[in-house]
Parts: sequence; structure tokens; C-alpha cells
Amino acid sequence: MLKQKRQTGGFILREKGFMMSVDPGPGALVYGLKNNLDLSELNAIFVSHPHLDHEGDAEAMIEAMTGGCMVKKGVLISNKDYLSREMKFGSISDYHRKAIEKELVVKEGDFHVLGKDLKMEFIELQHKNVETTGFKLSRGGKTFSYIPDTSMFDGIKEKYRGSDYFVISCPRTHKIEWRGHLGLKDVAELVDSIKPEKVYLNHLGINFIDNIEEEKEWLEEKGLSDRVIIPDDNQTFQLNI
Ligand SMILES: [Zn+2]
Ligand SMILES: [Zn+2]
Repeated sequence: MLKQKRQTGGFILREKGFMMSVDPGPGALVYGLKNNLDLSELNAIFVSHPHLDHEGDAEAMIEAMTGGCMVKKGVLISNKDYLSREMKFGSISDYHRKAIEKELVVKEGDFHVLGKDLKMEFIELQHKNVETTGFKLSRGGKTFSYIPDTSMFDGIKEKYRGSDYFVISCPRTHKIEWRGHLGLKDVAELVDSIKPEKVYLNHLGINFIDNIEEEKEWLEEKGLSDRVIIPDDNQTFQLNI
């Protein structure tokens, strides 16, 4: 985030009548607009955990969603470490919270229905000292899942079983292990076990970006290059959900 070699605005899920900003880090508003998105169409904002690279632009996205806080609208979804009043890490003003129609404080196993019958199930992960939440979004037998910052841990594969598509936060290369975050080797292990159709990597670290060709070759050797995509910034992908 601090070097901005890659953008840190998270990603947007959208279809007709539904738009959700996921982990709007610094740049989410600017790059959303540069990609010609009409951010007034947002109906939901999801924050996985209160670290700046996942919530720095949450207030800006709330303003975009609510016409500068003029219309009470939308849902803000996160866990108690972000939304509790005694928060130690993130920051969100009462002014912005008041503009949201509904705040959803979620925990492992909770469900919520969004947009056109999109069922959202929340998953607790293990990331440093803050509660961190991922999700599975399902409809018509297909599932899109998001794994934000987390360590590998026993049970993560079971939690995400049945996922067809993933966005995975993968700051590290296949060679480097870093507690609290996934590397490309962990992603390969998840893919081998869960067998999703496509995985889109996000949150690439400096080291990953500097060695991106080597990482692509490693995926090729593992036979994963069709399934694990290392996107450029601002790419759009079509999902069949
Ligand atoms: Zn984090
Ligand atoms: Zn992060």
C-alpha cells in the first residue's frame, strides 16, 4: 500500500441492480471513477478487517453511495473489530455511519441475502491480532468466495469447500512464508483441494510484483496457470453466478 506499485482499492462485485465494494483501501474511490463506474449505484460495502489497506476509503465509498451522505442508503458489512464503538484499529466517523441504512456486524456462520438472491455466508479467518472475515456468495449452485488476509490454518479448506470462483489475498511469492498472510504455495494447496474454476489473486506484495514472471512460471509448472489468474489493476472478469 505505502509504495503504490499496485492500486489498493480492493475490488467491486456488480451486476444489474447490485454493486458492492469489497475492502475499499486507499484509491477505491479514484480508481472506481477512473474505471467509469457509477459509484452512486453501490448498495453494499464490505470490510474484512480494520487495517488501512482494507478500509482506508470506506468513508469515501459511503459518500459515493449516499450522494455525499445526503440519502440514507445501503448496507455496511463487517465484523465487531471494525464496527464496534471501542475499535482500536480502523476509523469511521459517526457522520458516515449515520448515512448508512444498515450496519451488519457479522461473525462466522452468519448468513445475509443481498441483491437478487445472493446468499452471503461469513467465514472467520486468522490474521494477526484483528478479527478478519471472509465470505462465500452463492446463487443457483455457484459460489464466489473471498479470502482476505489470513494465515493458513486447519479447517480453512473445509470452510471454503464448494467454491467455484475466488479472489484471494496473496501478498507473498511461492518461496516466502509470512505469518498472517498467504503465499502462492498456500493458494496452490487451496486450489488442489477445493478445485475452483478460477482464482483471481489480489493484494500482491512488492516482492511478488518484482518476481511476477517467476511466479507465473511456477504456476505453469504446477499446471495451475489456467486456473490461477494474476490480474493487472483495473481488469474485469465475468463470473457465472
Ligand atoms: Zn491486514
Ligand atoms: Zn492487507
